Amino acid sequence: MTSSALAATVDLDAIAHNVTVLRQTSGTDVLAVVKADAYGHGAVPVARAALAAGAAELGVAHIDEALALRAAGIDAHITSWLHTPGADFAGAIDAGIDIALSSRRQLDAVIAAARESGRAATVTAKVDTGLNRSGVASDEWDDFAVALAKADAEGAVALRAAMCHLVRGDEPDHLLNSEQASRLDAAVADLRRLGAGPEVVHIANSPAALTRPDLARDLVRPGIALYGRTPVPERGEFGLIPAMTVSAEIALVKNVAAGQGVSYSHTWIAPRDTVVAVVPVGYADGVPRLLSGRLRVRIGERDFAGVGRVCMDQFVIDLGPDGGGVAEGDRAELFGTGAGGGPTAREWADAIGTIDYEIVSRIGNRVNRVYVGGPKQAEQVGQ
Ligand SMILES: *Cc1c(COP(=O)(O)O)cnc(C)c1O
Repeated sequence: MTSSALAATVDLDAIAHNVTVLRQTSGTDVLAVVKADAYGHGAVPVARAALAAGAAELGVAHIDEALALRAAGIDAHITSWLHTPGADFAGAIDAGIDIALSSRRQLDAVIAAARESGRAATVTAKVDTGLNRSGVASDEWDDFAVALAKADAEGAVALRAAMCHLVRGDEPDHLLNSEQASRLDAAVADLRRLGAGPEVVHIANSPAALTRPDLARDLVRPGIALYGRTPVPERGEFGLIPAMTVSAEIALVKNVAAGQGVSYSHTWIAPRDTVVAVVPVGYADGVPRLLSGRLRVRIGERDFAGVGRVCMDQFVIDLGPDGGGVAEGDRAELFGTGAGGGPTAREWADAIGTIDYEIVSRIGNRVNRVYVGGPKQAEQVGQ
């Protein structure tokens, strides 16, 4: 393992463990969602680890994300579900990416690209069953379904899957979850009647994969749970292990006299002579400025409070009058698994009214991803 002054250490064995938890809890196969650089964890290593651990296939938002996985040599089935009019459908078809379609316009563009490349496009019907975000709108469905079945019969596209996305997956007992599933089932029945039944159907995001096995259909489509974080903490942790630990080496230790202010605008005044330390990560690295004066870091076995403003590149912690035994170069953990009561991404999220999805996916590029565990790479064998 390489050491890195600013590190987001990603435990690929935790990813593998979480895939197993998701397969067992949902009772079905896993489409691992690795969009947004695997929620900040690194799409290529996470995808490899998830597939090695038994994930059946992968999903991303943009075609460019799918093409990057292909370019890294990943040949698993990949579905991409968010496209602008200029999206590289031809590139997706050439790379064998499953294109999830949200409109007749997208279908027509994919048919044109398929005719040009001389290859059928593999597609998924993304049905809007109530989220009113992506997906084929209900008033466009009949027209879309007929055109899709025709293109399928003509060989321009090969319909593989139907999917929808839940509005209230994180409220497992909400009636809308079952209603959305029924609407998707009805759409699938329409396609079957038209002679173009999909091979696989998927609905469940992480919370549904963990709590609603009855909605699983052929695949579950989890993101955040893969990374070891439950979106339904009131239902328990499900044995998931958070995969990312963010840490930084202490850059500087110094004395501050009683009455002196610390960091921009002196929002914190030292109440006594004390020792402070500079942690060299800031809001540009994904430490929310809203956490100013409201976060703790763990150094060794001890927690120290952040004081004053979080800046772009750094923030300050109070080590106390005795300096807490902390030296420059010591490693401060910002968040991790929470084992032993250490700080967590959920704690940050709760403090500022967001979700840990946002915390982990915004850890910046200055923070080096360091991978531990995971499947043996071919080049490591025999070393
Ligand atoms: C992001 C995303 C998911 C994964 O959601 P989680 O809540 O992270 O499990 C699944 N499906 C679609 C369409 C998504 O955009």
